[in-house]
Amino acid sequence: MKLLDRYEEVVGHQEIQRLYRLAERLAGKRVVHVNSTRNGGGVAEILRWMIPLMRELGIDASWEVIEGTADFYRVTKSFHNGLQGLPVSLKKRDYDLHYEINRENAERLNLQADVVFVHDPQPIYLPRFTPEGQVGRWIWRCHIDASRPDRGVWKYLDAALPQYEATVFSMAAFTRPVACPMFLIPPSIDPLSDKNCPIPEAERLETLTRLGVDPDRPMLLQVSRFDRFKDPLGVIEAYRLLKPYHTGLQLVLAGGPAEDDPEGAEVLREVLDWAGEDQDLKVLMLPPDAHRDINALQRSAIVVLQKSIREGFGLTVTEALWKGKPVIGGACGGITLQVHDYHTGFLVHSPAGAAYRIRYLMRYNDKRLRMGQNGYDFVREHFLLTRHLRDYFTMLLSLDRPEPDSLIV
Ligand code: UDP
Repeated sequence: MKLLDRYEEVVGHQEIQRLYRLAERLAGKRVVHVNSTRNGGGVAEILRWMIPLMRELGIDASWEVIEGTADFYRVTKSFHNGLQGLPVSLKKRDYDLHYEINRENAERLNLQADVVFVHDPQPIYLPRFTPEGQVGRWIWRCHIDASRPDRGVWKYLDAALPQYEATVFSMAAFTRPVACPMFLIPPSIDPLSDKNCPIPEAERLETLTRLGVDPDRPMLLQVSRFDRFKDPLGVIEAYRLLKPYHTGLQLVLAGGPAEDDPEGAEVLREVLDWAGEDQDLKVLMLPPDAHRDINALQRSAIVVLQKSIREGFGLTVTEALWKGKPVIGGACGGITLQVHDYHTGFLVHSPAGAAYRIRYLMRYNDKRLRMGQNGYDFVREHFLLTRHLRDYFTMLLSLDRPEPDSLIV
């Protein structure tokens, strides 16, 4: 069975036909995506489904990955932090190293293409070292909130942009003035992946039992890296405010291993300390490929929290809404695009606010179920991979022929 036939079952015939019609006009074009890793992180997750789908639609799509030294990744990690507004102290030799590794990769990678999507800052200088005429268009796809960057980091990255024909950001609030056309294209989830596909009831129950969660009592859930910006302690505080009124209530904080992130390990320790001996509060360390476990947990929660104080797009919110769960989210980043008060959940600013809204949702079953349904419909409409692909195709066509009537399909 073709992949697109499987997606058609989820998103409908019309949506797939729209994709075919757009793709027809891009048939045979060679499109290369370049990022810095094949595994781990949201970008790799998206490229994993996007490349085969583009190919099935007749586009000659491929995926190239840059290579660098440990020092290079230390520098690019600082770029990431710097773009998000943390002050960083990089020396001239750090910028030189980044520049040099981009040069080496430009020689190594197969970048002969009509369009090259460069994802995030790691490969941003590839156009500088690629022979003139080898690439039709360069597009910089920034997945990071770059609205208030460290000045030094931005000055260096900004100097790469004149060679790009367009930039793409996930949402307006993440952008800043740049010297080329800008497109706003939010990310998306794959409804057929292990993280998001329907799972058998027996598997869901087996997962809960294995993870020590009682399937017969209500459970609150937050799935997140152990990071202070995700406010795990605030989630525990909200749960404690509720527990006297709902004695059967359980809380699950599920996150990945934090060994490679010294701060993550420290936050995990704080969370474990704060959690104490409460049998109904589970802090779960899941392996990076525990997608079906996370799926089962999200499907089992009564309400899902994402009480971040700072957030990127917040794919965990998209995943929870897709499973028909209202989300209580911190009012920041992409959470504000997805959570709308009384419609798909509630935006909150404090643990007390979160507890108040959870209490409301636990009390009114009908409202909770209706908001869950709204969330599912909202994601189906806006945040599935078919919409994402449609936006990319529309952008490419508009760059080819900027007249507005050329985009009517
Ligand atoms: N995730 C996971 N295991 C974990 C924690 C998170 O697989 O232990 C996944 C989660 O399901 C989501 C992604 O990692 O798909 C996190 O993306 P999000 O945009 O929510 O946050 P980020 O970690 O990028 O800040």
